[in-house]
Amino acid sequence: MKRAILASALLLAPWAFAQQEVVPGVRLIRGTFTPGSQPDGNSVVIDAPSGLVVVDSGRHASHTQKILDLAKSSGRPIVAVVNTHWHLDHIGGNAAIRAAYPDVRVYASNALDDALTGFLATYRKQLAEQPPSAAYEAEMKLIDSGKALAPDVVITKSASQSLGGKTFRVGLERSVTQGDIWLFDEASGVLIAGDLVTLPAPFLDTACPAQWSATLDKLAALDFDVLIPGHGAPLTKRQFAVYRNAFNALLHCDAKEACISAWTKSVAPLTNDDAKFTAGLMGYYVDLLRSDRLAANCH
Ligand SMILES: [Zn+2]
Repeated sequence: MKRAILASALLLAPWAFAQQEVVPGVRLIRGTFTPGSQPDGNSVVIDAPSGLVVVDSGRHASHTQKILDLAKSSGRPIVAVVNTHWHLDHIGGNAAIRAAYPDVRVYASNALDDALTGFLATYRKQLAEQPPSAAYEAEMKLIDSGKALAPDVVITKSASQSLGGKTFRVGLERSVTQGDIWLFDEASGVLIAGDLVTLPAPFLDTACPAQWSATLDKLAALDFDVLIPGHGAPLTKRQFAVYRNAFNALLHCDAKEACISAWTKSVAPLTNDDAKFTAGLMGYYVDLLRSDRLAANCH
């Protein structure tokens, strides 16, 4: 009961803060996502007995710097980084954190290996064909540094895992990518979902939609009070149910415009993003869902 009261009190205006203490000892650095720019994923910084555990390191240097600044001001070292998946907006800051804290251990699935020769190699080729820009150069540099972004410890199965002397339930799924990790801190009731939950839209680019839906069922069965998504503000369990219903409706909806407007209307209470921005993203993703391009992600 105490957990639930705390969580709902802190969730009154979640998007009002660039950085917020979700519950004591768990701080969220919100990733930004603005039209015309690639996003940063959310980062979570957790107090553990032997130091700080960071979940996801951002894409842009400015985001990662916020993590480093928070660690510096707390006077505690970053002892572990967990990457929920290999998308660049979640692993891009690994090298900078390693440079600042050489003893840090990075935990992730091994899905980056295939991504470097598959999706990311194709993406890099597309970037190289565009007129030069600082943003594209930075993306290509990040991809070229691939091995510096890779884990020290490969997570191969769902299990309890001690990080910085604190025990988490760690799940390994294949939904958004071929290796998606979630972390559940049972003591605080906080579930860190990575891009298994994203607002204002589900980022389907490398996903298997049916497997994603099954994973959302698994998350719903966990006894959490607060879910921190990969993008967007923290959700209560009730808000997550709204998200899950909207996701499943999206997989089975009919006319494109109706699909877009049903999604946008459903998630409006969960996000502060502009409805036009959300609808624009969903136009792209509804087309993607109806293409055969995602079938290759289902194994
Ligand atoms: Zn992301």
